[in-house]
Amino acid sequence: MKRLANLKIDPGEVDAVLRDLVAIPSVNPAFAGGTGEAGVAAYAADYLRRNGALVEEQPVLPGRSNVLGRLPASEDGPMLLLEAHMDTVQTTGMTVDPFAGRIEDGRLYGRGACDTKASLAAMLVAVGTLGRSGGSLPTGVHLAAVVDEEVEYRGVSVLAGAISAGRLRVDAAVVGEPTELHRVVAHKGCVRFHIEVRGMSGHSSEPAKGINAIQSMAEVLSFLRNEIEPGYEALRHAWVGPPTHCVSEIVGGDAPNTIPGFCRVTVDRRTVPGEDPLAVRAALEERLHGLARRTPGLSLTVGKPFIVDYAMEVDPRSPIVRRLEAATEKFAAGKRNLGAAYGTDASKLARVGVPTVVFGPGSIAQAHTSDEWVSLAETRTAAATLLDLIVHYREDEET
Ligand SMILES: [Zn+2]
Repeated sequence: MKRLANLKIDPGEVDAVLRDLVAIPSVNPAFAGGTGEAGVAAYAADYLRRNGALVEEQPVLPGRSNVLGRLPASEDGPMLLLEAHMDTVQTTGMTVDPFAGRIEDGRLYGRGACDTKASLAAMLVAVGTLGRSGGSLPTGVHLAAVVDEEVEYRGVSVLAGAISAGRLRVDAAVVGEPTELHRVVAHKGCVRFHIEVRGMSGHSSEPAKGINAIQSMAEVLSFLRNEIEPGYEALRHAWVGPPTHCVSEIVGGDAPNTIPGFCRVTVDRRTVPGEDPLAVRAALEERLHGLARRTPGLSLTVGKPFIVDYAMEVDPRSPIVRRLEAATEKFAAGKRNLGAAYGTDASKLARVGVPTVVFGPGSIAQAHTSDEWVSLAETRTAAATLLDLIVHYREDEET
């Protein structure tokens, strides 16, 4: 194993791969100017092939495929999965050139630099370095570059489907997102749905002759704040804190001089590990119907969920977390296990039984921003850490 243990990341290669990835637009087609991920997928497939990995495409949607690169393990050793999404959000309103990959003061600027092309670059170079060494690997690795994380998670869903169907053997996974090289061992899930209130329209000069749907919605909103929210503290989770909700959109009313007959809000409810998003929505529906029964004139409907995502957590004593911790300590001491309020692809892998930790260079504070950037030093450190993780994963397992 000496030869593998001596492998080093080439920092210049990490910078170059990151710059290449940022230069290829991969805006999710759901957003303005969406080009899709095909360009980045072709780049990743080519890089992996040139560096000795076995590459396959996993079709997800027309023209949108995940790329899988594999370095097999010798003697049936464990298989790690390194997963990062290829899509980005829109470039509208950006104050830096989204695709130039300008480097200044150790930062690389551009759309997706931080979320999450730096993670993808670190993973590619870690796997590429191992692949071209030609060494026999006690622990094998799948690199999965997936589509559609920013919208409906359809890339990772297909990947998770292959794992649960037994077509892909995976013992543990690292999902690349900007965590500043901390280890996210738990994150929240979410369920989003509408609440609609029906009133009775009429001339606004005689408001008593109608039922004002906006006024009724005000009752619903104060119920959410005063009756529902206080219950969240009792559900507090050690890593991610209590559940939350945000009333994120509202529409209602027809004209300045008409009693509004309709009002609708969107609720974004964030769940903690252990909560089932569907059960959470159903329980809230129950409570709101109770409110409607005792409030004269209030008629409401709670819509079906249009986004459901589970929360996730991984045991901090599991080999993937402990080994990643040991690797991180070598290159970036002092990084911690953390919980996160946002969601990632990790929950979809956790749902099919894969112990998964979220880890990557960059800060979530720079994700989706008008001057998105990532630290090159942190991206190189991530690559070195991931290489170390794969090389030493099995040693830890056996101790
Ligand atoms: Zn991301």
